[in-house]
Amino acid sequence: MSNAIAKEVAKRRTFAIISHPDAGKTTITERLLLMGQAINVAGTVKARKSDRHATSDWMAMEKQRGISVSTSVMQFPYRECMINLLDTPGHEDFSEDTYRTLTAVDSALMVLDGGKGVEPRTIALMEVCRLRDTPIVSFVNKLDRDIRDPIELLDEIEAVLNIKAAPITWPIGCYRDFKGVYHLQGDYIIVYQPGHGHERTEQQRIQGLDSAEARDYLGDDYDNFVEELELVQGACHSFEPEAFLKGEMTPVFFGTALGNFGVDQVLDAVVDWAPAPLPRPANERQVEATEAPFTGFIFKIQANMDPKHRDRIAFMRICSGHYEKGMKLHQVRTGKDVRIADALTFFAAEREHLEEAWAGDIIGLHNHGTIQIGDTFTEGEKLGFTGIPHFAPELFRRVRLKDPLKSKQLRQGLQELAEEGATQVFFPERNNDIILGAVGVLQFDVVASRLKEEYKVECLYEPINVWSARWIESDDKKKLEEFRNKAVENLAVDGGGHLTYLAPTRVNLSLTEERWPDIRFRATREHH
Ligand code: GDP
Repeated sequence: MSNAIAKEVAKRRTFAIISHPDAGKTTITERLLLMGQAINVAGTVKARKSDRHATSDWMAMEKQRGISVSTSVMQFPYRECMINLLDTPGHEDFSEDTYRTLTAVDSALMVLDGGKGVEPRTIALMEVCRLRDTPIVSFVNKLDRDIRDPIELLDEIEAVLNIKAAPITWPIGCYRDFKGVYHLQGDYIIVYQPGHGHERTEQQRIQGLDSAEARDYLGDDYDNFVEELELVQGACHSFEPEAFLKGEMTPVFFGTALGNFGVDQVLDAVVDWAPAPLPRPANERQVEATEAPFTGFIFKIQANMDPKHRDRIAFMRICSGHYEKGMKLHQVRTGKDVRIADALTFFAAEREHLEEAWAGDIIGLHNHGTIQIGDTFTEGEKLGFTGIPHFAPELFRRVRLKDPLKSKQLRQGLQELAEEGATQVFFPERNNDIILGAVGVLQFDVVASRLKEEYKVECLYEPINVWSARWIESDDKKKLEEFRNKAVENLAVDGGGHLTYLAPTRVNLSLTEERWPDIRFRATREHH
């Protein structure tokens, strides 16, 4: 069995794409799926996306604002590997969701717009990857347009993102003169054939830059290109797999996602160099992916993913072992055992029932309100995976109903949407208000629009005097009780049932913290 696990684990590659909006993440995702034979014609994913837009106000809003809100998970085979690709939302208001998604991967693909280089969102996402030294493969996109000087782009990656950049391929021209890329170590040219963006094409190669064929292909540009290469080879790092695995060096590829050129090299790099599922830290010990007993954690919950099904899916990263349909899993937080017979896997835009899965895979569980983000599942061991935090919201609104008879639906809707982790709902101890907290202001609009669409409830927001929220903990039960009585005006319970202090001002919070040294006021909450 453990041999079988080791074999399956070695085949897994689980990664996410990080990029600034518009750099080409959606396009490259489609091309990757095309390569994994998960779709036959590029454009399929987009088409589905717009179907969904038509059926949902929320999606309409997403489209109108040009942001991608939902995270998707996709699995497809490529070469000898099974690839799990996790999509991350691009807009900064959804950074928490992105943060948690990045805890579920073993490597990341950074996509840069060649005309723009490193952009603000790229920097923020790289900072998150840094926290776990996640290995990064880089792709400079849009070579079919005018791009910035590639040497300058590499310098920018190194200086701004503080990571060594090692070019694996080098572009030959760009825009109308884009002829392809030269593979530095392999000493061959990969010829760019425009007009094949939507299909799988065989690579056309010219071996040897010194060959007559290469001279002929580059024509008048030949001498300049050779000169440029000498400069590049003198000035740039050569690729070191060890440094890549430590997150200190990124291999860089050039191409055009739209033209489906260069994407296969990126996927080959993921297969050849990116790590198979890595060990995960838990409170109690480190868990190796190849251990036989099953373990996994929930990094994302999404409500009403499919308007036809109206259900909530909890996404689990399997950290070790093997899932088999019908197996009994132990939910560590609640201490309950649940039989899982209908886990889902995600293939392109489709979901399918799953027979088995291995460490590194992402599976979907139906959630009826019992699963929370951060939950660990095992075959019985008491383990808690770490590093999947909730952040204290920074913006607060009081939620008011337009139709007072719908308060049950409102509570249910807010509670279910809060499970997704991008917003948090608070029920004050002293009155019947409902307070919604979020990290980004756009979240309030998303929630209002989804409440209307998915729960048929219309709500309004009112300002409320809350500056920040802190989760309350204490080892001293008596003190905690005393605090509960004294501070009742500012106490609330969040959607997960945790006691929270809603501080009206920064000053109030620091005074309260000083007055109650036995109480911990936490700005992040992790499940223990
Ligand atoms: P995302 O916001 O990162 O998901 O970016 P998209 O994949 O939606 O791409 C943003 C825009 O750039 C779209 O209009 C794409 O068609 C375009 N685009 C993506 N890749 C390329 C490329 O290689 N060349 C050109 N010219 N346009 C591209």
